[in-house]
Amino acid sequence: MLFRPREWALLTQPRAVVGFVVTLVAVDALLAIAGVWTTALRSAELLTAAAIVMSGAICVEAMRRLGLPQGMVRDLLGTWWIPVVLLLPPVYSLIVPIPLYLLMQYRIQRAVVFRRVFSAAVVALAGFSSSTVFHALIPGPIILLDGVTGAAGKSALISGEGIGAAILCAVLFTVCNTVLITGAIRMSVPEEPRRTTVWDSESLLLDAVEVCVGLIVSLLCALSLFLLLVALPPVLLLQRSLLFQQLQTAARTDPKTGLLNAVAWERVAKTELTRALRTGCPLAVLIIDIDHFKKVNDTHGHLVGDQVLLNVATMLSQQLRPYDVIGRFGGEEFVVLLPGADMAEACRTAERLRTQVGRMAQPINDITITVTVSIGVALLRVHGRDLLELMAAADLALYRAKDSGRDRVCLPVATTAGVPVRSVTDPPTDSRGS
Ligand code: GH3
Ligand code: MG
Ligand code: MG
Repeated sequence: MLFRPREWALLTQPRAVVGFVVTLVAVDALLAIAGVWTTALRSAELLTAAAIVMSGAICVEAMRRLGLPQGMVRDLLGTWWIPVVLLLPPVYSLIVPIPLYLLMQYRIQRAVVFRRVFSAAVVALAGFSSSTVFHALIPGPIILLDGVTGAAGKSALISGEGIGAAILCAVLFTVCNTVLITGAIRMSVPEEPRRTTVWDSESLLLDAVEVCVGLIVSLLCALSLFLLLVALPPVLLLQRSLLFQQLQTAARTDPKTGLLNAVAWERVAKTELTRALRTGCPLAVLIIDIDHFKKVNDTHGHLVGDQVLLNVATMLSQQLRPYDVIGRFGGEEFVVLLPGADMAEACRTAERLRTQVGRMAQPINDITITVTVSIGVALLRVHGRDLLELMAAADLALYRAKDSGRDRVCLPVATTAGVPVRSVTDPPTDSRGS
């Protein structure tokens, strides 16, 4: 798979991202060459590195057996990077990630190759930097030559200053890692909202857990390498609980757009609808369909089509209130539930969504793509009293919008409350399908 260029997907990224990834890998490679040249090989350190790689490999295998959810973003491999940072000379931080990321790629195969390379390069550089700082602060021996059995001598890590410096450098490692990843995400998706990236409270909590467990594993290894056997089961259990939580999220999420999938949307929509019926509040449903989307695929290919889908999904989410519920209905169709919206507000919102998507110039590779959307609107109690009726009404309205020229918002033809048939927007003079 390494030689199938489409799977590298690096070239579909903005130039800044390509430059960033290539520079990072080059810096890592140069540092590794210089490090191998200047670092004396010690058998106890080689053995420690091998034991840590083995432990990490067991975790990767355990992940594979559990089945990694689509779009999974977090693992607990940091648990193993931190001991490498603290126990071994800095050059090991550049080399140890290679076998483990290769294993991830070939045993789990979830990430696009360039993303995997990027993650490994980031971990390597963050590890190298923090390891250099740690060994400058604590110059004494960390892994003793007889440290495998712990029979004699005392590691410089097992001291007040050693532990203090270890905490500092483990945090430094995590911060460097996060900053580099955030930088790449910002370059890749500049409009990505801050809370959906790596700084949300869930990620910070996981970072803290990773630092703590990494420090515990390091201290145990400094006492005796055999204590890795004690550390491994709790790490595996932690990883399992992390995977379970991400599996739950993945089961609700559409992997291409990050929106709710159709089943999850329907579940939330039914709850909102029941509440609206009980409280007498208005509620509206929108079905949004990208116009002539097949042409985008046919002209530019499915990868570009997928990027357009993601851009439209992001734009729609950004235009909605936090309590509106948006999902991907399927293909190039989205559904939105607007709790509390009456006819005027629903049409205003739909019109805003239509206008904003239509105005969005989407630079992808070297081309700029513009798409329009057609939107069908249906109101609770006006066009139906349950979700099925509302969806049918909104679908009918969408077909009216398509029939009358696309790039517009429509209500259904017939309504249960006798609302007259009307098109909310006047037909535009031209339809701007891509
Ligand atoms: P209309 O204006 O009538 O909606 O025309 P359309 O071309 O958008 O609609 P049509 O139903 O003819 O085609 C929908 C296209 O959406 C066909 C399919 O290849 C594409 N599509 C569906 N799901 C995906 C997806 O996940 N990714 C990409 N790239 N394309 C998709
Ligand atoms: Mg369409
Ligand atoms: Mg469609």
